Amino acid sequence: MERKELLYEGKAKQVWSTADPDLVIQYFKDDATAFNAQKRGTIASKGVLNNAISERLFLLLADAGVRTHFVARPSEREMVVRKLAIFPIEVVVRNVVAGSLAQRLGRDEGEKLPAPVVELYYKNDALGDPMINDSHAIVFGLATRADLDTIVSTSLRVNESLKAFFAARNLMLVDFKLEYGRAADGAILLGDEICPDTCRLWDVSTGERLDKDRFRRDLGRVEEAYQEVYRRVVR
Ligand code: UDP
Repeated sequence: MERKELLYEGKAKQVWSTADPDLVIQYFKDDATAFNAQKRGTIASKGVLNNAISERLFLLLADAGVRTHFVARPSEREMVVRKLAIFPIEVVVRNVVAGSLAQRLGRDEGEKLPAPVVELYYKNDALGDPMINDSHAIVFGLATRADLDTIVSTSLRVNESLKAFFAARNLMLVDFKLEYGRAADGAILLGDEICPDTCRLWDVSTGERLDKDRFRRDLGRVEEAYQEVYRRVVR
């Protein structure tokens, strides 16, 4: 399947049209940004690794009955997906305190949560993706009550599947971000990607961070961390 026209270029991916109006191609780049694009860099082979890791996780979720946009991975950096109208909402699910939650509520990173926490953020670069609640999402027309119910319940199911999958590979799923969209037939599907850019993954034995925090926090061995997740998840 051929890439036709560049529809959108984000920080880590491009989205291309195809001859089929229901399908687009996500092209995975090596570019990385953090802190609302104030920090920029590249991580060698990241696009290739994230594409393969995402495919593995989308297939796992499909097996668990989660509807996703994944169709095929025709090449190292290309993923064919269903075309979605993306909700301008980022859903974050957390199992362990880290990152912005630690800062906002003054908790120590690493504290295990007694139940998953679900947060919504308004996807808006100019505003730095502010946190919102259900009421904001509904009143400002980002999604309906029914949409949010589907999105949140699906996210919790995704969490259960991914947590178990990663635990079997000695990885702790600390937190992650999901995006959803509506397909032409009206179905709400899980979209975007699921990879070490969008998940925090800590080695269970050593606590070592094997995710984008190595880039964000200048911890070194960034590529090695993505390779290690690939090795545990895909191979
Ligand atoms: N995340 C993401 N994209 C974003 C913001 C967050 O993929 O624009 C992911 C991030 O990798 C982490 C989780 O969502 O796994 C929670 O991030 P947090 O709110 O702690 O933000 P951060 O510490 O990255 O500022």
